[in-house]
Amino acid sequence: MASRPFIVGNWKMHGTRAMLSEARAIDRAAQRLMQVEIALAPPFTLIHPVRREAEQIGVGAQDCHPADGGAHTGDISAAMVADAGAGFVILGHSERREGHNEKDKLIAEKAAAAFDAGLKVILCCGEPMEKREAGKAVDHVLRQLKASLPDNVPEAGERLTVAYEPIWAIGSGEAASIEDIVAMHSAIREFLVKTFGEEDGTAIRIIYGGSVNPENAAEIIAGDEVNGALVGGASLSAESFMNIVLAAQ
Ligand code: PEP
Repeated sequence: MASRPFIVGNWKMHGTRAMLSEARAIDRAAQRLMQVEIALAPPFTLIHPVRREAEQIGVGAQDCHPADGGAHTGDISAAMVADAGAGFVILGHSERREGHNEKDKLIAEKAAAAFDAGLKVILCCGEPMEKREAGKAVDHVLRQLKASLPDNVPEAGERLTVAYEPIWAIGSGEAASIEDIVAMHSAIREFLVKTFGEEDGTAIRIIYGGSVNPENAAEIIAGDEVNGALVGGASLSAESFMNIVLAAQ
């Protein structure tokens, strides 16, 4: 099991250079909170500036293309985000699955490209409300996770993180209950141990995302098999993000 909680801010399509002051403030505060691993995934345009200005925290991308390069107007390869200073990439976020019609197979190809480029991967999975109401949330998430993984995951325990993000909880202000989070994380852990073996399967971090805020973070992060949080809206201000980090210590 990972020793330090992992708290990642996903800035989504928010942030111009004016937001660098938030990244600097997070980085300054992070120097006193070494027992938590902190990272930000800003838009592509801010990866390099955040990397340059923030020394203590991890910096990642929110997507990458599966190809190494070529005629893909507007896309960015895994090697390019690594070159800009990213150490990881978030893949399979529901906003990409839905807004860009990304299927599991494409996500697995992106993950393979990211690992080849030396990046770590935060692989997102989560169920829509209809699946939860039908009692099929665990089946849905495990099927999605299995299909979104590439055939080869090098150093899985170290380089793969799974983010469980129920779709209905993202940006809704309504986080999943701690009981549902723990039940899902336990099912994911069982799947990871079966897939990657005891050592890697227990080392892979499983983080929760979906309306995490400074008020509910302590309870969520203390949950069994909850190794951290993926935070959207509440990561846009250094103050609220660092209050989540403080709750995770
Ligand atoms: C997310 O989109 O990854 C997320 C968790 O968003 P929010 O925290 O805003 O629900």
